[in-house]
Amino acid sequence: MIDINYNRQEKQYEWIEPESGERFTFPAKQKHEAFRFAVSMLDTDLYAAAERMIDDHPQLERVTWRAVELVCANAIEVFPAPLGNVVAMVDSSDGYGRYAIEEHEYGFSCQCEHFTSLAAPLTQNGERYCKHLAAYRLHLRTHETRF
Ligand SMILES: [Zn+2]
Repeated sequence: MIDINYNRQEKQYEWIEPESGERFTFPAKQKHEAFRFAVSMLDTDLYAAAERMIDDHPQLERVTWRAVELVCANAIEVFPAPLGNVVAMVDSSDGYGRYAIEEHEYGFSCQCEHFTSLAAPLTQNGERYCKHLAAYRLHLRTHETRF
């Protein structure tokens, strides 16, 4: 879990690198930048996978960084053997409930509102991605390369 704190007195975000104890600071309104920096330091595989996904699909930039937050929070449970069409469960960002990721002949789907309302962005291949589906993809990519 990446812990970024806001220092009200100094009006800046702070992140302490867990191993060295070194403190990094970021201006107010740059919490996302602070988070990305922390990921680049702690999990280079995940950071590289996110950058690659955004390079391939620039329209997924927002969804991808939210997905990185889910991966860092260990929010993805992949089933080794699918249960029906369900290949994984992903915790919701607010901590209430989980969403099933399903694999179909035409591709993947998620149960969340962003996906089912068709508001989630489409790639040039016609695949729709909410943050949960992007998190599932990032989880697979980063875990496959580790073994
Ligand atoms: Zn979703």
